Amino acid sequence: MKLYAHYFGKYKWGFFAAVICVALEALCDLMGPTLMSHIINEGIGGGSVSAVYFWGLRMILITALGAVFAASRNILASRTSQSFGAELRYDLFKKILSLRQESCDRLESGSLIIRMTGDVTQLTQFANGTMRIFFKAPLTCLGSIVLASMLNLRMSVIVYSLVAVVGVLLFISMRLSHPAFRKLQKSMDALNTAAEEYLMGVRLVKAFGTYDEETERFEIKNTDLYKKGVRAQIVITLISPILTLAVGFATGAALLLGSRLFGLGLTQPGQISAFIVYMTQILSSLMMITNIFNTFVRTRASFERVSEVLSSADDFEDIGTSPKIKGGVEFKNVTFSYPGSSGLPSLKNLSFKVEPGERIAIIGPTGSGKSTIAWLLMRLYDVTDGEILVDGIDIRDIKISDLRGAIAPVPQKATLFSGTVRDNVNWADPSASDERTTAALKAAEANFVFNMKKGADSLLGSGGVNVSGGQKQRISIARALMKDAPILILDDATSALDPITEKKVKQNISGGERTVMLITQRCSAAMDADKILVLNEGALAGLGKHEDLLETCPIYRDIYDSQTVEVV
Ligand code: ADP
Ligand code: MG
Repeated sequence: MKLYAHYFGKYKWGFFAAVICVALEALCDLMGPTLMSHIINEGIGGGSVSAVYFWGLRMILITALGAVFAASRNILASRTSQSFGAELRYDLFKKILSLRQESCDRLESGSLIIRMTGDVTQLTQFANGTMRIFFKAPLTCLGSIVLASMLNLRMSVIVYSLVAVVGVLLFISMRLSHPAFRKLQKSMDALNTAAEEYLMGVRLVKAFGTYDEETERFEIKNTDLYKKGVRAQIVITLISPILTLAVGFATGAALLLGSRLFGLGLTQPGQISAFIVYMTQILSSLMMITNIFNTFVRTRASFERVSEVLSSADDFEDIGTSPKIKGGVEFKNVTFSYPGSSGLPSLKNLSFKVEPGERIAIIGPTGSGKSTIAWLLMRLYDVTDGEILVDGIDIRDIKISDLRGAIAPVPQKATLFSGTVRDNVNWADPSASDERTTAALKAAEANFVFNMKKGADSLLGSGGVNVSGGQKQRISIARALMKDAPILILDDATSALDPITEKKVKQNISGGERTVMLITQRCSAAMDADKILVLNEGALAGLGKHEDLLETCPIYRDIYDSQTVEVV
């Protein structure tokens, strides 16, 4: 509700203006039948041409006025709702970028995209509808009842009974269609999520030849959606002929009673026809009201999904000290469980220390917590227990932008953005000189770039689809080198490189004052580091130099043996 109030406050003037137009428009609509009854009674019935002109002119004026109001409310509604939609989308995007990592994990990127597009569109349409018809329907309905009663009190009994019957019918239909629409919405979400997932893994689907299975699984979801859609619609479609029938009866009754009253001299033909027009107006506005309720069900789901994002936790506050970071890192009894995961902690009572300028290799099997160390150091998550120090200061006391600014990561999964190689490499510093870019690419052994037609200005497809895994890794390393930060983290970043290139990259990046954390699964990559941290199931299994570990750490020895067997 806070969300609604926030945006409502911003757009209230456009909203009120539109609602006033709608109200005036409804008023014009309502006056039509009464004016018509005057034409029939005085003009046609009374045989007075001047009366026809008199009332006819008024009727034309009122209709024209109604059209002007209708056009204005449409323009107002479109402008207001579209700018509301654009702003909401922008706010959502900003919020998503600043979400705390655990919220991103929970919300999943596919669903975030749907929330930012489909759900926002639904809310925009709802806002538009509110301003255009939602207010008109109840106004027309009530107004018609009042005006019909004013035409002829006796005949208005028919209107009341019609409203009562139709009201009950609509209530029943709403009770039936509400759950149906809710289920429809769920089914739609499931389909969206599934489609998103399959499309992301389209290469895997091709490689594993699971085209038929995936298509079938999609078909099941799609059929489900179709069935739910039909069920939801059926209730609504059934109700409309029943309503028409009810109005038919009521019209018959009105004519019957009207002619009796006319015979008794208690009413005139003009009143009777106006009366019938009001009844149709009542019916159509009641049907509109049911539609509004159905739209409301859908919008509520979208509203909840959007609010969930907007109310998720923001990233850690950017406050604290701003020391000049030299690059010393220390983990002190760090224990960490991912938020929301019920399993064992990913890191258990882990302690180690890296001096500024030192090169540490972190080795261990998959799932042993290597990447977690990198995420924790960048403070994407906070430790569950213990502390992480940079240059002796707890990272929770360092300004988060300074902390992250001091770390250049090459994540395990190299992510490139669409644009040129240069755009990607110069990400941290878009105005960097060509020499620096070239130097970074060379240090990352990404010489293949210079063989491309346009060199560093060659275009990369979205996500870097047109370069290989190893090439992506090297561009990603160059990007990190450009950041020129005191701490460089390579998370399995050379896994797709051949050993010779890997060795060259390692030589190029070491030396100097930079602290290097090299996460790897290969002994060959770890061997020449200043110290090697062996990790097993989140716990420290060994810490020291290659030769020492071979003697003292059985796990390291095992890893080493398993990787050198062929050479020996
Ligand atoms: P490594 O990099 O050594 O392969 P990770 O640090 O990625 O291992 O993962 C360590 C453990 O933490 C694994 O058991 C993994 O399942 C778990 N884990 C990793 N990321 C998440 C996450 N976002 N949410 C919950 N658990 C996670
Ligand atoms: Mg990892």
